[in-house]
Amino acid sequence: MTGSAHWYPAYVGIGSNLDGPASQVKDAIGLLDEVQGVRLVATSSLYRSGAFGGIEQPDFVNAVAGLLTTMTADELLVELQAIESRQGRERDELRWGPRVIDLDLLVYSAQEIDGPELTLPHPGIGERNFVLLPLAEIAPDLAVPGLGRVASIPVSRVEPSISRIA
Ligand code: AMP
Repeated sequence: MTGSAHWYPAYVGIGSNLDGPASQVKDAIGLLDEVQGVRLVATSSLYRSGAFGGIEQPDFVNAVAGLLTTMTADELLVELQAIESRQGRERDELRWGPRVIDLDLLVYSAQEIDGPELTLPHPGIGERNFVLLPLAEIAPDLAVPGLGRVASIPVSRVEPSISRIA
């Protein structure tokens, strides 16, 4: 096993708007749970959210998973990218375009990193309701470095449009 024997808390944001988005999100959660050195401890409901970024495209399905891991943040990011590849993610797609699966490392323990491969906490947390609302469902008291308690981070409930679906 890689990493130390210590189990670190981490939160992963998951999104899809192609090829059966709800199934894609559920498949990603299942694959995450199978990773050696990862224990899934909480999953949010699934949410449907309107796409943002100015590209006409289908709605997204989003969720957040809370886990414990013995891996480092870098090692976990590699695993997330491996899951994206297994589900057919193409890495050269448009930045805000449609995608079969997207896995973002939102928070890893209390780490703050600003590197070429990894930014922690994920910079979208404070801006995206489709990240913050599912995160608040499973971890309202989580302290996000630089932003504070999840439930007290202000976020629009209407833009982009969002609703809980399951
Ligand atoms: P995307 O899949 O479009 O969200 O972006 C993937 C790129 O963002 C990869 O090149 C990662 O190295 C980089 N990245 C930086 N910070 C993070 C993070 N916290 N979680 C996931 N990807 C990240």
